Amino acid sequence: MCGGLGKKTKAREFNRATMSLRQTGSASKPLAVLAPAISKRKITASSIYDDSATTFTNIDGTEYAPGDYDSYQGKITVRRAVESSQNIPFVKIMEEIKPKTSIKYLKKMGIKNLTQKDNNLALSLGGEEKGVSPLEMAAGYSTIANNGVYIEPTFYTRVTNSSGEDILKTKQKQRKVFSKEVAYIIKDLLKQPVEGSNGTANYCAISGMDVAAKTGTTNENYDRWLCGFTNYYTAATWYGFDMNETINFNGNNPAGVLWSETMKKIHSKLKKAKFEIPSGVKTATICKDTGCVATEECPNTYTEYYLFGTVPGKCKEHKESIKTTTKTNTITNETKQNETKTEETLEKNEIKENNVVNKTTQNTEKQNSNSNSNKKNNNTNNTTNTNKNTTTDKTTNNASTQNKTNDVDSEISNNTDN
Ligand SMILES: [Zn+2]
Repeated sequence: MCGGLGKKTKAREFNRATMSLRQTGSASKPLAVLAPAISKRKITASSIYDDSATTFTNIDGTEYAPGDYDSYQGKITVRRAVESSQNIPFVKIMEEIKPKTSIKYLKKMGIKNLTQKDNNLALSLGGEEKGVSPLEMAAGYSTIANNGVYIEPTFYTRVTNSSGEDILKTKQKQRKVFSKEVAYIIKDLLKQPVEGSNGTANYCAISGMDVAAKTGTTNENYDRWLCGFTNYYTAATWYGFDMNETINFNGNNPAGVLWSETMKKIHSKLKKAKFEIPSGVKTATICKDTGCVATEECPNTYTEYYLFGTVPGKCKEHKESIKTTTKTNTITNETKQNETKTEETLEKNEIKENNVVNKTTQNTEKQNSNSNSNKKNNNTNNTTNTNKNTTTDKTTNNASTQNKTNDVDSEISNNTDN
């Protein structure tokens, strides 16, 4: 964690990683839009949205007409919209799911400072009233990395005495926000900015690793974000001024460069790791133009991932011979019936929370932040130049931690079943 730059002049001073609330721009899209919309089955990764100039009527009745960062792309899939961070499709999805639903999910992912004013379409594009801290963003993205389980961030795991006995042990609040299937689909969508030809975070690729990443920019270029993760670590970086001021830079998003440099180093000696597809995720060959299941006539196709019961129908724009159509339809229908049940059961389980906080956690964290602050807080008096934050939140460090996450999953399911 890095909370500022420059010389440290006092204890426990302003720490940007934990205390600085900033608007998050497009970095909020996966948390505010994708997670609730996919989880609630309002969209799939191949749903088509018209990315063109649109004037929306906001919750309070006022007009809202956000633009795209670059150019409008016309009818595109959600996947394509994620790739180059098109805005209009995300506002349209927010209009469908309602900002209230989004706020519910964000809160479950540890975003604490949302206000009544955030019940607003601008929430889809990270225009929060008060803002979000880099630590909260790291924890929010970790929820996706940890297969839908939010784990409260901690800065230590245990404190031992001279005989090696535990004096303090961290106990992090955990709750399941969405299913591992939903998490996987978001993970795969977030590979798009890194791997796609129109990707906004191509420079964040790490050799041999699946990388999920999303950039964020706010109005007037006041804030730059990069939030992302691998199977090993989640990191959120923010770059900007304490008092809103336009960031001027050449080349890549400075928060992204910071993210990339840090994460590449951290991963340099780690084993290659790809995101693992849960058995509950369904794959289908999709027509790029219509977002529907491809026929033999579809000119551009790709593989897409779905929750059970959400695989779209066949492409009607590129029709094929009758014989093949009948055969494929039968398969799709059969699978759909089986799929729906499983996902319904999952949804029932995923909403309930599992809070395992106790007094010890709160006390120990206070002590810990005291001792840490001396080491980690930097001077913030002369930081009107550039302030960088790095918050690294451990997700799945190795096989044993991964097992821990799996245990949590089953623990939560058991509890909710009772
Ligand atoms: Zn087609």
